[in-house]
Amino acid sequence: MGLDTARARLVGYLSQEISDKRVLAAMAHVPRELFVSPDCYHSAYDDIPLSIGFGQTISQPFIVALMTQALKLKGSEKVLEIGTGSGYQTAILAELAKWVVSVERIPQLVESARQVLGKLGYTNIEVHMAEKTLGWVAGAPYDAIIVTSGAPHVPDALLEQLSVGGRLVIPVGSRWEQDLLRVTKKKKRNVVENLGGCRFVPLIGDDAWEN
Ligand code: SAH
Repeated sequence: MGLDTARARLVGYLSQEISDKRVLAAMAHVPRELFVSPDCYHSAYDDIPLSIGFGQTISQPFIVALMTQALKLKGSEKVLEIGTGSGYQTAILAELAKWVVSVERIPQLVESARQVLGKLGYTNIEVHMAEKTLGWVAGAPYDAIIVTSGAPHVPDALLEQLSVGGRLVIPVGSRWEQDLLRVTKKKKRNVVENLGGCRFVPLIGDDAWEN
């Protein structure tokens, strides 16, 4: 089976659970095989996470679709991603929002993500080397924030970088398993929804896990 057929088949499968047509269209468009190592090409459209080196993984396509849908993007938003990794989720966000800021703490991954995203021609993405404070304060406020690693709790620093009405999607739990939360920022009391169980590599930082 060719990669185009495999991609279409994966999107068909995702459409049983994911209703946001724009998310499905983005996943039908972005070539995931370019974000995995060459020896994983044949698995690029299996619904599984894959190793991207440095102990990190490119998220499972279903989780990418679910998290992206949860952000409720319409096209005009400025989005922050914590954990660029391969850059695949970054590309999906760039298809669906106006501007994407993504931060990553491993320099080699910053470099490789910049390269592949540049090669694909995206002009609405900035990838930064992560600083000490979680997120990217210089670009705040964001309409949506996605964290692609697991946190022990919802970090205040990220809520501060979110605009009122904005959505923060983040896995929260132990180092090994988490619940996917969507926090909608309100003037008075934020709304927290649990979207189900998930497994992510740990979010590293002062207000998160130790390396
Ligand atoms: N969205 C990526 C997921 C990569 S795994 C993809 O689909 O490829 C999560 C990434 O978060 C890892 O690359 C890890 O290095 C990064 N990470 C962990 N803690 C971080 C932090 N505090 N700031 C930025 N990136 C972080």
